Amino acid sequence: MFTSLSQGNHSAMNPSAPALYDAVLLDRDGTLVEDVPYNGDPEKVRPLPGAREALDRLRAAGLRLAVVTNQSGLARGYFTERDMHAVHARIEELLGPFDHWAICPHDDTDGCACRKPAPGLVHEAARALGTAPRRCVLVGDIGRDMAAALAAGATGILVPTPVTRPEEVAEAPAVARDLPGAVDEILRRDRAVRPVAPRTGRAGTVLVVRSDSAGDVLVTGPGIRAVAAGAERVALLCGPRGRAAAELLPGVDEIIEWPLPWIDGSPEPVDPDDMRRLTARLAAVGAEEAVVFTSFHQSALPLALLLRMAGVPRISAISDDYPGSLLDVRHRVPVGVPEPERALSLAAAAGFALPAGDEPALRLRADLPAPAVDLPASDYLVVHPGASVPARACPPERCAEIVAALAADGHRVLVTGGPGERELTARVAAAGGTDLGGTTDLAGLARILAGARCLVVGNTGPAHLAAALGTPVVSLFAPTVPFGQWAPYRVPTVRLGDAGAACRDTRAARCPVAGHPCLSGVDPARVVAAVRRLAPG
Ligand SMILES: [Zn+2]
Repeated sequence: MFTSLSQGNHSAMNPSAPALYDAVLLDRDGTLVEDVPYNGDPEKVRPLPGAREALDRLRAAGLRLAVVTNQSGLARGYFTERDMHAVHARIEELLGPFDHWAICPHDDTDGCACRKPAPGLVHEAARALGTAPRRCVLVGDIGRDMAAALAAGATGILVPTPVTRPEEVAEAPAVARDLPGAVDEILRRDRAVRPVAPRTGRAGTVLVVRSDSAGDVLVTGPGIRAVAAGAERVALLCGPRGRAAAELLPGVDEIIEWPLPWIDGSPEPVDPDDMRRLTARLAAVGAEEAVVFTSFHQSALPLALLLRMAGVPRISAISDDYPGSLLDVRHRVPVGVPEPERALSLAAAAGFALPAGDEPALRLRADLPAPAVDLPASDYLVVHPGASVPARACPPERCAEIVAALAADGHRVLVTGGPGERELTARVAAAGGTDLGGTTDLAGLARILAGARCLVVGNTGPAHLAAALGTPVVSLFAPTVPFGQWAPYRVPTVRLGDAGAACRDTRAARCPVAGHPCLSGVDPARVVAAVRRLAPG
């Protein structure tokens, strides 16, 4: 279940090859060419503006291209396979060659595994191109394209047309204005994780910083591994709520735990003596440089000041605010970039890159301890009803209905939660699951998730733990923060919950909308269907 390090990673062989992706998968109608319903006539093929030039830029960057297209006109008898091949020959004549065509000939009544939103075409295309779905990005114009990409663990970029529904735009992990815009974004993201000036030698001790919760620490893992690959030693400064996650990360040699009052959600007053002790502790690390990771609404500058006072000679951080002499490398990142790539791009700005063979994916140490509980020998799912932030938790009564629906569909359901969530897990598990609330620490939870077919969870730490283990996630995602930044990274995912709810982008810790509609409306039947899509059979 642990992520394979080398499968399909062309960058391991060729440093000039793309770092994040091996392939771009493209929807056909409405994305590459004008959508002419059930078109079997090559004369009616009209490329969308800028498509040829955009595709040629991807080809020049070494990315392989495939088309992934639902063609239910075949099942319905509106055109023949021969007509379709003539259309595709015309498309290649106008837009250049594609390395693979993945086509679903069925319609909705066939219940096949390939018709988008099912992930079958993405799996097929990745296999045909010699890579894995997580190293593919899919560009398409409707929600079905995005859902297929996510369910396979690929990246999705939506290019809306006038027929794209507003809720499909709201749910998309990323949105570009058109195909050339999506290509700009793909190439920009890829460039951002490569150092402009790679280091010649290894750094000595590097202090990396990531405060806040377990999930924040986990999504910073790839950035920390990049630093570790170019340093003799890595010390990680984290907060009390991130400590357990820090202990699971590869590449960390020393952990310093300290609450930072400008980061914590419920901060203590600033204590000058405490700040003096922290400064002394940071000086004792003897770091020759520091890389301060933050999320997009946090400031690195207060800590940068303490690091300067501790004598750290080189400091790198993301800062829109003017840093004066606090930073040596001031990095800036556009909104919407997935958090793990945001961290990797800061590491790259500081001169650090993942080594050949290490993928830009979340990963845990290989030597996790065994859980304190006996796990079922048979297949099981995990439902984790709690969340580190209340606004991101699905209401307990709805979680109980989800457990009941999954149990009725024949699943064995384990309900997990931290020591402070025993009452919650007992209540949710009573609907038909096994209550494991408070029985494990984070490492034990990782072991449970490693054996699970699927995890049902909100936007909180265990979602990222599952991503690091390759366990698919049904994400009950409150839209208080952008899905594209905080979705489980590069793991098969189904997004549920109202993406357009009034709490969208508020970053609220407590839901500001009466009735918590973004998650209280999740239909348990859709969770059952999501599990079937992610873990069939
Ligand atoms: Zn199909």
